[in-house]
Amino acid sequence: MNFLKRFILIVLLIFTSKTITLNAIAVSKLDLNNKVVLITGASRGIGLATAKYLANKGFRVYATIRDTNSLDTSKIKNVHFETLDVTDLESIKKTIHKIVMKEGRIDVLINNAGFALGGALENLTMDDINKQMDVNFFGAIRMCQEVLPHMRSQKSGHIINISSEQGVYGLPYGSMYSASKAALEAMSEALSIELLPWRIDVSIVEPGPVETDFSLKMGTREIENDPYKKICDYMESSHKQKNDREKLESHYQSAEEIAKFLCDVIDAQEPQLRYQTNRLSKGIVSMKLNDVSGEDYLRKMKTMIEAFQKRLIKK
Ligand code: NDP
Repeated sequence: MNFLKRFILIVLLIFTSKTITLNAIAVSKLDLNNKVVLITGASRGIGLATAKYLANKGFRVYATIRDTNSLDTSKIKNVHFETLDVTDLESIKKTIHKIVMKEGRIDVLINNAGFALGGALENLTMDDINKQMDVNFFGAIRMCQEVLPHMRSQKSGHIINISSEQGVYGLPYGSMYSASKAALEAMSEALSIELLPWRIDVSIVEPGPVETDFSLKMGTREIENDPYKKICDYMESSHKQKNDREKLESHYQSAEEIAKFLCDVIDAQEPQLRYQTNRLSKGIVSMKLNDVSGEDYLRKMKTMIEAFQKRLIKK
């Protein structure tokens, strides 16, 4: 190839690559307001706040709830409410089919539905444990498996899995909640690589404590002379009375803050794999991910449990 041909080729390459980049930006800006977002567990808390926030920003939001009677949707503007239980594959298939028929696409899936199972591991029945995994982990898998064929054919999409900082460290008396979120995290990491050929992003979001009516269900396995009873009863009643929340108020984020955070995650040109929603959770997660021997974790948890037990003795 002579010099002139090479020169023309280079100019053409620069020109076309610029056009492609500019077009890509134009398309992404154009798409922003039309992006179709599907979110699970939107009857209250983070899910509902996110649905409202994204709808206000112009996204086309499909907010799914288990029981349509649990929420008066008539006053909530621009949010399409649909019925979906993440443990019921038929309801998932039906709702996704309906959205795709209407919109032709799903751009963002937010796997948010979840609850916490509390209690010492010995206090949990296998049924309790199955239910925890069924909602927090298998539920997200069911959603991904049904949404992915559409995202693959679009060659774009973003799956956002709502984990928790407790998906990174094991919380005593919340072992299976932590396990369900840790499983979600490992699955998300692997999935993010599997989906690279279709330019589908996967993000894990790890909030710390959020001021919602987050459901805590205690384990139902009875054991003789239950040695965990006092600590678990205290845990349950303080969750109900929100005593500890008041004391820790400054550490709590609002559901609206998380909604804004999720909007920024959707908006990111190159989404991260893992996000913490505030500085405190970033500190905890970074400590844990660097603590390869587990020593720091054990030391911090022992201090926390000792303080907890002192409070119980005083009561
Ligand atoms: P809420 O309890 O306020 O909301 C949970 C939502 O999940 C509800 O809409 C609930 O619906 C729904 N849900 C439960 N089971 C199912 C199911 N089988 N199918 C469909 N939806 C279901 O909790 P938050 O808003 O606080 O929590 C949302 C997510 O954020 C959860 O995944 C949680 O683990 C995570 N998170 C929460 C934190 C917090 O401190 N609040 C901290 C870190 C993470 P229904 O009304 O029908 O029960």
